[in-house]
Amino acid sequence: MKIDIITLFPNMVSAFLQESIIKRAIDNNIVEINVIDPRPYSLDKHHHVDDTPYGGGAGMLLRCEPIFACFNDIKGPKHTIIMSPQGHQYKQDDAKRLAREEHLVLICGHYEGFDERIRTLADEQISIGDYVLTGGEIAALAVTDSVVRLLDGTINSDSKDDSFYNGLLEYPQYTKPQEFEGMKVPDVLISGNHELIRKWRLKESLRNTYKNRPDLLMGRELSKEEQKFLDEIIKEEA
Ligand code: SAH
Repeated sequence: MKIDIITLFPNMVSAFLQESIIKRAIDNNIVEINVIDPRPYSLDKHHHVDDTPYGGGAGMLLRCEPIFACFNDIKGPKHTIIMSPQGHQYKQDDAKRLAREEHLVLICGHYEGFDERIRTLADEQISIGDYVLTGGEIAALAVTDSVVRLLDGTINSDSKDDSFYNGLLEYPQYTKPQEFEGMKVPDVLISGNHELIRKWRLKESLRNTYKNRPDLLMGRELSKEEQKFLDEIIKEEA
């Protein structure tokens, strides 16, 4: 997969790409990520990329010309995303969908935002939540990170137990030691009984979801087994 990130602050983005799992994915050619600065594409002599809004008001807006020129320089079929608090809210299902694309282009705004005409470049607009950031870089990195994480070869573990993957939050996890400051690892996890462990994990996954994100249970169909566990949880938590 290829990801191009258009940003006025390439160092912010590049730093993130040089660490840990994403760096390894790049080194292993699972993904190619290019960070592109639109500033050199600005034709005005000081390479200005922003200007004041028509009609007045605070702040500066990204200008069309450098962003379009930069975008048009990116060859081949692409799926283009504008990072914006006005976009649809990003979910794990979007990460799964975007992980099937060959080529993503992510456009980061900054300052007060961008000239409305820049939105015509986008196949979709994505928001990472109902709050306003100073720029789209963190949002573009959140999308990049969650998509690259799903590509074959990026992480060894199976992602199907992760939170949101099957519409539930993950079950609690423990590592050594068996007891820490009086807090014990649940016996079932040490039992070696795979069927009991599976059942415990499913039930605790439902419990986490019921307690922390009951909204996730609303739209989701439950199997007979899940419904039975959920009924027990509702009694236990009452
Ligand atoms: N005035 C704009 C906000 C500008 S914030 C408005 O009210 O819509 C500056 C830039 O940060 C945006 O152009 C966008 O690229 C990015 N940004 C801010 N909050 C974001 C969010 N929740 N999700 C994705 N991108 C965001």
